[in-house]
Amino acid sequence: MVQYTRPKGTQDILPEDQPYWEHLIAVVSEIACNYGFERIDVPIFEMTELFTRGLGEATDAVEKEMYAFKDKGGRDIALRPEFTAGVIRAYIENGLQVWPKPVKLYSTGPAFRYEEPQAGRYRQLHQFNAEILGIDSPLADLEVMSLAWDIFEALGLENLSFQINSTGCPQCRPSYVETLQAHYHVHHDVICQDCQRRLVQNPLRLLDCKRDQCQPVIATAPRIIEMLCEGCAEHFAELREYLDALSKPYTLNHRLVRGLDYYTKTVFEVWAEGIGAQAAVCGGGRYDGLVALLGGPPTPAVGFAAGIERVVMVMQDQATEVPSPPYPPIYLAFLGAASRLYAVQLLTDIRQAGLAAQISMGGSLRSQLRHADRRDAKLTIIIGEDELDRGEVTLRNMVSGEQTMVPVARVVSTLKTALQT
Ligand SMILES: [Zn+2]
Ligand SMILES: [Zn+2]
Repeated sequence: MVQYTRPKGTQDILPEDQPYWEHLIAVVSEIACNYGFERIDVPIFEMTELFTRGLGEATDAVEKEMYAFKDKGGRDIALRPEFTAGVIRAYIENGLQVWPKPVKLYSTGPAFRYEEPQAGRYRQLHQFNAEILGIDSPLADLEVMSLAWDIFEALGLENLSFQINSTGCPQCRPSYVETLQAHYHVHHDVICQDCQRRLVQNPLRLLDCKRDQCQPVIATAPRIIEMLCEGCAEHFAELREYLDALSKPYTLNHRLVRGLDYYTKTVFEVWAEGIGAQAAVCGGGRYDGLVALLGGPPTPAVGFAAGIERVVMVMQDQATEVPSPPYPPIYLAFLGAASRLYAVQLLTDIRQAGLAAQISMGGSLRSQLRHADRRDAKLTIIIGEDELDRGEVTLRNMVSGEQTMVPVARVVSTLKTALQT
């Protein structure tokens, strides 16, 4: 026999894990709504070109990791590696640019990256995501940062802090990049091979390198915030003023940059006590150039994305309490064919009365009661043929084991009363 297994890098989210996922998504929706964000859902696949254009050919997410294929109509299609490009496409296509500003959107769902699976990293991953479109004030940056913060806090994540930086703009960044390249040319012999490639293709990513040999070069590298133009410097100073006023802890992280032209000004991460060391649970920033790049009117925008798997892992590791949906309190057991027909009718009456109930699918009374017990039933109705002939059923309290006879006409009202006490 063939044994089917799930594709590499995917996961089954079993019933026992669902309460974490449901709670997380409920918290995201609730807080996003409280902040005035509206939900948007876009397709999980788009024309490949949207991502190659929107994310850039030279990023790993596009170059190496994208699930891209031709559909039966010969179109180039890709599973989304992230949300923002699709959301911006929808913003332009549906005319959201004429809405009063700001337009505040959030979404949750799967994204896909063909990368080597490792702990907490999947090829089908899940994210929540938020953006504010149409506002260039740092107030919008603060709003998305606060939203992310409040969500993590509500989920019980501990020791939260921001890492922030500015990645400049198309006016001030090029001269920073030149200075950075000049610094790296001096140290060309000691840096790793990846960095030698980055130096030419995507110099800002040099600051991301994790290799030991590159750390001293990063530590002495020029800092972009010392080379910002006036507009970028003012924007960053104002954002820091807000964070100071709100006493939200933040660290200036000079290594936090984005490699693509449409990213501008603020870059941030939220760090939390994770499994082991403090680590990023969310990344975001401003991308004032993206809407225009994808064919819309020039529109400032800021947002973030967070990986759900990682947050769920931290929640489970911390044994965060999450509400789990209750099993139906009422269980119907029956013995014999005549009882079964009555049980089906009674089940309908009970459900129409607004009570949650499930029915046994047969078996011995003993096995039915065992099932009722495993499913956490509070009350079991036992329908036997002799009792039914007398117009009665047995009501068993599953906690005390006490049994009473109830006339069939009063079953629903008796259950209602019993569940209220
Ligand atoms: Zn600038
Ligand atoms: Zn390196």
